[in-house]
Amino acid sequence: MSINNYPWLNEIYKNVIRQYKKNILHHAILIESFYKVKKKKLILEITKWLLCKKKKYYKSCNICANCKLVMSNNYPDLYLIKEKLDNLKKTGVNEIRKIINNIYYKPQYGKKKIVWLFKVSNMNKFQINSLLKVLEEPPKNTWFFISDIKNNKLLETFRSRCLVYTIIVPINISIKWLNKYTNYNNEQCFIAIKLNNNSPIDAKKEINNFLLEKRFFLYQKFLFSIKKNDFVSLFDHLNSKNVIQNILWICFLLLDVIKYKLNCLNFILNKDCKNIIYNISKIYSYRKVVEIINIFFKCRYNIINIPNINTELLIIDSLIKCEKF
Ligand SMILES: [Zn+2]
Repeated sequence: MSINNYPWLNEIYKNVIRQYKKNILHHAILIESFYKVKKKKLILEITKWLLCKKKKYYKSCNICANCKLVMSNNYPDLYLIKEKLDNLKKTGVNEIRKIINNIYYKPQYGKKKIVWLFKVSNMNKFQINSLLKVLEEPPKNTWFFISDIKNNKLLETFRSRCLVYTIIVPINISIKWLNKYTNYNNEQCFIAIKLNNNSPIDAKKEINNFLLEKRFFLYQKFLFSIKKNDFVSLFDHLNSKNVIQNILWICFLLLDVIKYKLNCLNFILNKDCKNIIYNISKIYSYRKVVEIINIFFKCRYNIINIPNINTELLIIDSLIKCEKF
């Protein structure tokens, strides 16, 4: 899809190009977001435009040799430092230094050099320090495009050397965008986006995987377990390759029950499951809902963070705790 299809990228894309045209483009641009928004696509399109031989206004031609080389990742003066080097922590600084040394040579092919850096927060402090030196004294005609999930791991000294764009897609823009690609209505699009950590990109992918239907089925089974106080029967529905997501969905539902009890109806996420939310709120006290959320969150946390843990045992243990509580 063209960059025009992503309104949240298009604005930054044009902004960067305008700065380049005015000759004021900063040599290091950090693009970050809290969730998936196609940052790499943005970087690819800017790079293509910078190197294209036949660009017109904001458009690169997509057919010249440079465009093709960039699209196939073969442009000789395009350097890529990405998460593959991530075992970066094991690799040490040599790999980074090798790339950095090359950057100081003249371009092999054209006049510009571009460096892509993905997931820099995975790098250790020695690697970041090597990069910092380059950003402080960058070679001529060289631009660094860096992308990362926004987190606190990235050193402030590194961020301060960059022009930072933080992409946040307003929910109404996400809904409008998602609506174009699905048969779902606005409310369903809203739910899909929220279930996917606000990412319209992930929501689009998941919606095609019957996300809302699968979630509704799980919620029905959950309500059944509550009515019978038979949580263990939920095991087969939770224990799949999507176990982490399934548990999170249950937590979202229980958080909605709390919102319902507090009369904060506008903030309910699963707006299409009001009956289920209502039913659970009639059966469970506020305290019980909070306890069960804690059990599920703890279970999910342990699955994510404890290597080689027996997930099945952990789920069973959590379900029994819910029954006994
Ligand atoms: Zn071109």
